[in-house]
Amino acid sequence: MSRDQRVRDNWALLHAAAEASKRGVPVAVAFNLVTEYLHAGARQFGFMVRGLRLMQPKLQALNIPLFLLKGDPLETVPQLVKDTGASLLVTDFAPLRLGRHWREGVAAKIKVPFHEVDAHNVVPVWVASDKREYAARTIRPKIHSKLPEFLTEFPQLEPQPEWSSGVTPEAVDWDALLAEVLERGKEVPEVRWCAPGEDAAMEALSGPKGFLGSKARLARYEEKRNDPTVPDALSGLSPYLHFGHLSPQRAAVEAARNKAVHKASVEGFLEELIVRRELADNYCFYVPNYDSLDAAYDWARQTLNDHRGDKREHVYTREQFEKGQTHDKLWNAAQAEMVHFGKMHGFMRMYWAKKILEWSASPEEALEISIWLNDKYELDGRDANGYVGCMWSIAGIHDQGWAERPVFGKIRFMNFAGCKRKFDVEKYVARIGALVRDIKAGQK
Ligand code: FAD
Repeated sequence: MSRDQRVRDNWALLHAAAEASKRGVPVAVAFNLVTEYLHAGARQFGFMVRGLRLMQPKLQALNIPLFLLKGDPLETVPQLVKDTGASLLVTDFAPLRLGRHWREGVAAKIKVPFHEVDAHNVVPVWVASDKREYAARTIRPKIHSKLPEFLTEFPQLEPQPEWSSGVTPEAVDWDALLAEVLERGKEVPEVRWCAPGEDAAMEALSGPKGFLGSKARLARYEEKRNDPTVPDALSGLSPYLHFGHLSPQRAAVEAARNKAVHKASVEGFLEELIVRRELADNYCFYVPNYDSLDAAYDWARQTLNDHRGDKREHVYTREQFEKGQTHDKLWNAAQAEMVHFGKMHGFMRMYWAKKILEWSASPEEALEISIWLNDKYELDGRDANGYVGCMWSIAGIHDQGWAERPVFGKIRFMNFAGCKRKFDVEKYVARIGALVRDIKAGQK
């Protein structure tokens, strides 16, 4: 288990159980904890470790032991396979380089079959398409044509035979582990508004105040999802989806039940949850240098190069961006939302990254800074969606050329005046000011 950290609705675990049943053997779950992961701090590690801690008794109730490994997975996982005499290793799927490196490295070292199951996408990435897709419009029909086959209910995971290998997991001292990750990552503290774990994820999806449970929220999605003054019009599910506490397929199946009443909202949500999210996985899987300008289309590289020498009205350093010290109160508010709350509103993320392009010395620097900040502070960061979001904003991937202008060239432009036309900028800035004050006072 790596990217999909849950017991229910998990195709990788279901596949492992089905294979074990064929062989008449028990199942164990292994999770390898690394101490450094793409700039993750206490915010992200705390969320993850707390989620794993909540998961352990759920596994135990099904007779599935959890081996919590620490260190280099290329060493620990093959060793565990050997020690337990496992006949098969199953992993979930990850499109990012480090996840690919781990999986390929482990595959090369073990002598038993190794199955990779995409438990993170409704249509498995390699089934949806066998190549890099150009844009949403090219992947959408491919995904939609396969939804009748893949957008289905999950089977129940049944209790497994008692664990019978001579090797049993060491007891985990969760308090000590948590203390360790919180101390190491203390520069970016945890947030309180988002409780980890698969039960909390289901509550956020369909509990009384959840996105689908509260019909008022779902009803607002269509009209208000691009209005950062109405944050709960969004589902707020991205942290759960990122850590795999919630299956996107579960979210999609539940959302689809509401189609008769909230057609436009449900369709809009499924477009983001399935098409846009799976397009991001498609891109990162098929484009290993996904976070580099070299991965942009020719027209985008060309236009950014043509405008490399354009005079910038403002140029900020990484530190100024990080501290929210630009001349633009809207940008600074979005940055504060991310730094303190750990989840910037989706609409603001586009504006935020595009302004980093406008106010950086070069597009390379802009991309580097935006990814670094995104990964450091967003609870849902270090995700294919994040690399695509930054590359879309700065390098035009999955987008088209627009009217040419300074610095941006033909990359789509966004500005303060446009935001003012779309939503109440003052209200958003005031909302974030109050939010940050509440967080600092320990009230949110
Ligand atoms: P909802 O609108 O409720 O969407 C539901 C789910 O659909 C999301 O959780 C997400 O999984 C998916 N989704 C929504 N919008 C997109 C999109 N544009 N592309 C791909 N999938 C989408 N998303 C992340 O999960 N992690 C990131 O680190 C991240 N960084 C981003 C950086 C930039 C610069 C940009 C422009 C976008 C980024 N996004 C990222 C995409 C998007 O902004 C977030 O997924 C969304 O705001 C999460 O909030 P939500 O779950 O409430 O959204």
